[in-house]
Amino acid sequence: MKRWNGWGNVTTDYPVPTSARAYLANLFGALDPQPDAAYETVLKSVPGSCLPAHPLLDTSADARLTHARGQSLPDWVALRSGRIGAFPDGVAYPQTEGDVLALIKYAQKAGAKVIPYGGGTSVAGHINPAKSELPVLTLSLERMTRLLDLDEFGCTAVFEAGVTGPELEQSLAKHGYTLGHFPQSHEYSTLGGWIATRSSGQQSYKYGRIEQLFAGGRMETPRGLIDLPHFPASAAGPDIKEMVLGSEGRMGVITQAKVKIRDVPEAEEFYGVFFPSWEQGAEAVRQIAQEEAPVSMLRLSNPQETETTLILSGKLWIGAADKGLRLIGYDRRRCLLVFGVTGTAAHVRRTRAQASSICHRHGGLFVGTVVGHTWEKSRFYAPYLRNTLWELGVAIDTLETAIPWPKVMEASQAIPASIVTAMGIHDKKVLAFAHLSHVYRDGASIYTTFLFRRPADPDELLACWQAMKQSASLTIQRHGGTITHQHGVGTDHAPYLPAEKGALGMEALRAVCKSFDPDGMMNPGKLC
Ligand SMILES: Cc1cc2nc3c(=O)[nH]c(=O)nc-3n(C[C@H](O)[C@H](O)[C@H](O)COP(=O)(O)OP(=O)(O)OC[C@H]3O[C@@H](n4cnc5c(N)ncnc54)[C@H](O)[C@@H]3O)c2cc1C
Repeated sequence: MKRWNGWGNVTTDYPVPTSARAYLANLFGALDPQPDAAYETVLKSVPGSCLPAHPLLDTSADARLTHARGQSLPDWVALRSGRIGAFPDGVAYPQTEGDVLALIKYAQKAGAKVIPYGGGTSVAGHINPAKSELPVLTLSLERMTRLLDLDEFGCTAVFEAGVTGPELEQSLAKHGYTLGHFPQSHEYSTLGGWIATRSSGQQSYKYGRIEQLFAGGRMETPRGLIDLPHFPASAAGPDIKEMVLGSEGRMGVITQAKVKIRDVPEAEEFYGVFFPSWEQGAEAVRQIAQEEAPVSMLRLSNPQETETTLILSGKLWIGAADKGLRLIGYDRRRCLLVFGVTGTAAHVRRTRAQASSICHRHGGLFVGTVVGHTWEKSRFYAPYLRNTLWELGVAIDTLETAIPWPKVMEASQAIPASIVTAMGIHDKKVLAFAHLSHVYRDGASIYTTFLFRRPADPDELLACWQAMKQSASLTIQRHGGTITHQHGVGTDHAPYLPAEKGALGMEALRAVCKSFDPDGMMNPGKLC
């Protein structure tokens, strides 16, 4: 069963080792977590529904509470404090494209707003109903998960859009294929959600972002069906697929998608490399990307993230290895790179040699597969740490951007620093660190994590978060970065979008939404 006010299923926990608890207490002082609102109490706060009955509609308080919020930090504060604000009036579970069409018509007749809902893993406020006099219908795709077609000759597959990461990969694996799209939220996020938010998987270096994997599909809009045919390439004017990518439920409901698939790889390895400094590590990954070494993923942690990762892991062998590293001169400025190679066994051997030789030129110490395997084992498990930290009294959040290379080094320091400064104004301590999560020939994505002792008062917590988020977002923009590399816009990034798109660009975006949804019934208040 899914947790109603946190990440993941209720049976999985991420215990924090005693050494890590001591580290956090040392940083933030004695932690004094206040209890969360009880499920039964919050359930009682769900008001009556304003929607007329429909056979596919569930208006129970449980359905409405568990679809009211996503996974952003403000969402967690709302859920854990029991101050949800607004609930959908009902949750509908279509099973076919015909059901989706019928539900859109039903919502039109009822004067309701519609929020398409995939896995609810949004971290930018995408699926939260706005406070409104009008009824809100959340349309969950969780019963639309089928593999509709597998074209082995043409290397594509068609799925219903509500399929989650594990369901999709299991269906393909039976036939020897993979999509290779692995966001950290893989366990719950869905194909439709990935497309609607322009998601990026951990191995997008090899497989491509969802933009490269999405080959066509179908979207039901208030004005009718948009059918996106698949062409390997086309010069027929602007591509309508590009409008659906990142549409965030504002134009319609993606019901099915054709994706490009690949053979399940023969071999895959993840390796660790330590660098004496951030500058040397960043130079190495830039060269790996620019020499086009065919790795499948690169993740370079800055010194603070390296230190925190080693401590939070609590593994004894890591402590011993760390001491060894210090002895040979990899001091507090050391940085950990994890890189992956995926393909045939020969490809893995060749690429490991190529990438580790570039790393060696920049002072990198290749440490084999142990660190890489530790990362691999925890790649979808790490989000469970959020639950444990919260219960200890520590809040955690992340933000991300992509920036051209000339500004990457400066921005990678300025973004965490801006978070620390913003919290300083509140006279509070924060631990902020970053890693380069996706690397390109022309730039890199900087992924920043910040942890702080959570104040007992939810308003104070939100004010702290708001100050840090705003400070980091403005710093990102000052350094020429996009407001989001992979999480999408939602409500949290919407205030920063006009600076990126320009007034004319925003006008064009709104016009496109309007042409599919003239009455503004689809997911209002998000994106633009
Ligand atoms: C712990 C954690 C780790 C994460 N890691 C990553 C990561 O590595 N990479 C990454 O890209 N993102 C990541 N995310 C963010 C999130 O998982 C992505 O944005 C994901 O694509 C959302 O998919 P979803 O199915 O959960 O969509 P939802 O959260 O349900 O919806 C997101 C948006 O998409 C719209 N939408 C959903 N389905 C449809 C549909 N069928 N038709 C039309 N619109 C639709 C919704 O209306 C909403 O606007 C992470 C989130 C968490 C909580």
